[in-house]
Amino acid sequence: MTSLDPRAPLVLDTRELGRRPGSQREVTRTVPAPAELGIEILAVPEGSPVDLDLRLEAVMEGVLVTGTARAALEGECARCLEPISDEIEVTLQELYVYDDRHDHHERNAGGDADDEVSTLEDDLLDLEPLLRDAVVLALPFQPLCRDDCPGLCTECGARLADDPDHTHDAPIDPRWAKLTGLQQDQ
Ligand SMILES: [Zn+2]
Ligand SMILES: [Zn+2]
Repeated sequence: MTSLDPRAPLVLDTRELGRRPGSQREVTRTVPAPAELGIEILAVPEGSPVDLDLRLEAVMEGVLVTGTARAALEGECARCLEPISDEIEVTLQELYVYDDRHDHHERNAGGDADDEVSTLEDDLLDLEPLLRDAVVLALPFQPLCRDDCPGLCTECGARLADDPDHTHDAPIDPRWAKLTGLQQDQ
């Protein structure tokens, strides 16, 4: 288990809350997006600004984080490969529980349900896994440039949205033309 770096942009210090249930703090900050925030075909560009608007609230078991994150998205249409630029806003909500056990003995390495719980480490919390999950969940499985994108022509690869009515009498793929030529030579 690596310990958190308090200077990392997505690590928040909750010490100010003093573990007093009910105490709150607003956190508004813009952080550079970590790498691979999103899915392969659509993601928040690494280093681009992510606007965080959060509330940290101490509760009995830990610190409750609620708020939103806003960021730019870039990717490509799953059907026609046209570049997509978009924005995303996700809701964040997570309870980070106080975890004092690791001060005293090793956490059990069995990989049980404990792993699903977000914990505070020395009063620091790591927003990155929360942000990552929220962004990935909010993204469409197949991003499209527009809902009814007709995709690419299977014949010539042209983008059908630009030229919806075009047709082919015969295959014009140059590779086919070459093959035909070879056959004629023999
Ligand atoms: Zn498209
Ligand atoms: Zn075509």
